[in-house]
Amino acid sequence: MPTEVRSLNEECGVFGVWGSPDAAQLTYFGLHALQHRGQEGAGITANDHGKLQTERGLGLLADVFRDPRRLARLTGQAAVGHVRYATAGNHGLENIQPLSFNFSDSQFALAHNGNLTNAVTLRRRLEQHGAIFHASSDSEILMHLIRRSPAATLTEQVKDALRQVHGGFAYLLLTNDCLIAALDPNGLRPLVVGQLPTGGYVVCSETCALDTIGATFVQDVQPGELLTIDDHGLTIDHYTTDTQLAICSMEFIYFARPDSDIHGVNVHSARKRMGAQLAVEQPVDADIVVGVPNSSLSAATGYAEASGLPYEMGLIKNQYSSRTFIQPTQALREQGVRMKLSAVKGVVAGKRVVLIDDSIVRGTTSRRIVKLLKDAGAKSVHLRIASPPLRYPCFYGIDIQSTNELIAAQQTIREMCQTFGADSLGFLSEQGVVDAVGLSTTEPYGGLCMAYFNGDYPTALYDYQAEYDAEIAQLQANHEGVIK
Ligand code: AMP
Repeated sequence: MPTEVRSLNEECGVFGVWGSPDAAQLTYFGLHALQHRGQEGAGITANDHGKLQTERGLGLLADVFRDPRRLARLTGQAAVGHVRYATAGNHGLENIQPLSFNFSDSQFALAHNGNLTNAVTLRRRLEQHGAIFHASSDSEILMHLIRRSPAATLTEQVKDALRQVHGGFAYLLLTNDCLIAALDPNGLRPLVVGQLPTGGYVVCSETCALDTIGATFVQDVQPGELLTIDDHGLTIDHYTTDTQLAICSMEFIYFARPDSDIHGVNVHSARKRMGAQLAVEQPVDADIVVGVPNSSLSAATGYAEASGLPYEMGLIKNQYSSRTFIQPTQALREQGVRMKLSAVKGVVAGKRVVLIDDSIVRGTTSRRIVKLLKDAGAKSVHLRIASPPLRYPCFYGIDIQSTNELIAAQQTIREMCQTFGADSLGFLSEQGVVDAVGLSTTEPYGGLCMAYFNGDYPTALYDYQAEYDAEIAQLQANHEGVIK
C-alpha cells in the first residue's frame, strides 16, 4: 500500500529567498548549484507584493527556463524553488514543485525535500474528511494539515501540522507575507540559512548554493526548528524539542556537493577521510589508485594519500551525461553508465588497480567499470568502497526503498566480488564513516543516520513497517548471514 505515495520527493533540492529585488533570478542560480539533487523537474514561485506566481516544468532547470520570459514573469522580492528527483511512474507535471495553493484569503507555495513515513495513513484520513489531492506526491499533505488546524495563527497551524507528519523532511513554504522553513526532528536532510549582502535571507539545501549567489552562511537549520523570514527579519522557533541529530550519512558519502559544508563539516574533506580510513582498513598491494568520476574522486585521493600509491586518472567521465542512478529504469541506467565512463588504456594497461567507488547500490556501476578496466588491460582490479555494504532501504528521501534493489542485501561480499569480476572487494566500516565525518556531537552514530548499513532507523516506519518486516524476513530466509 505505501507504494501509492512512496518515491515522490526524494533527494530534491530546495531554495528560498526573502528580501531581494532579484529573488527569482537568485533562486535560479541557487537551484542551478543544487541541480545534482534532482534533474527530473524544476520550478520557481515568486512573490510580488503578496501575489504568488509559479513557473515549473519537467527536465533540467535550464530547460525549464530556456524561454527567458518564464523567469522574467517571476517578479517580486521573495521566491522559492525546487529541483526534483523522482523514480519510475511519477513523472507527471502535477508532481513538479513548488506546489501552489490558492485559497480565498491567501496563497501558498510549498517545496519539499524528503519522504514521509506516515503519508498513506494521513492521506487516507484526510480524504475520508473530504480533502481532495491533485498530485500523488505526499507534499500536499502538509498543506491540508495546515488548513485544517484549529490554531489561531499561521505559525501555530504550521507547528500543529509538522507535529503530525513523520519521516524526513525539509520544507519551504512561501506565503503572501513570509517564507517559512522547517526541518524534521532528526535533521535527516540538510538545510542551511544564509544572508545576502543586501540584508535579505536565503534558506536552501546546501551551502554550495549560498556560495553561488554570494550569500554568507548563517546557520544549519537544526532538527525540529521552524524559521520564519519576513520584512522584520529572521525568527528562529521550534515545533518540537523531542529531537536528535541523525543526518543522512549518504549526504556525506555520495549525495551532497563536495564544496558544501554540512553541520560544519566540509563534504569533500569528509570523503577524503573516508578514503584514507578505507586505505587503513582495506589495504591492497597495487600500482595505482583510480576513482570513479566524479563522486568518488575525493575518497580516491584520500586512499592514495594514505596508502602512498599514486593517484591516476584511469577513468574519464563524459561531462555531458547526467547521473545514471537518476534514470528511472535499469536498462536506461546501464546504457547511461556506458555513455558516461571510459577507461584510459595508457594509464591502466598492465597495472594492478585499486578502484575506489563511494558506494554500491544495485551494482550496475561496479560491474561495468571492473569490465571497462580489464578490457583496457588492467592486470588486476581491487574494488574498494568508501562506505559499508548498503543492505537496508531508506524511507526518508533517498531513492532506495526495497532490499530487492540492493545487491549487498542479496549477496555476500565474496559473491559480489565474483559478480563484479573483481580480484578483491572491501568496504569501509560503519565506525570508519562515523569517524571520517566527525560531527561534533554525542548523538548515536556521531549524529548520522546509518540505517542503510545497519537497519537502525531513527524514526518509526509507520506505513512501511509491515512491508519492510516481510522483506527482511524473506531475505533472512534466503540469505542467512547477509542480513541480520
Ligand atoms: P549502482 O551502480 O546501482 O551500484 O550505484 C552506485 C553508484 O551510484 C555509486 O557509484 C554512487 O556514486 C551512486 N549512488 C549511490 N547512491 C545513490 C543514490 N541514492 N542516488 C543516486 N546515485 C547514487
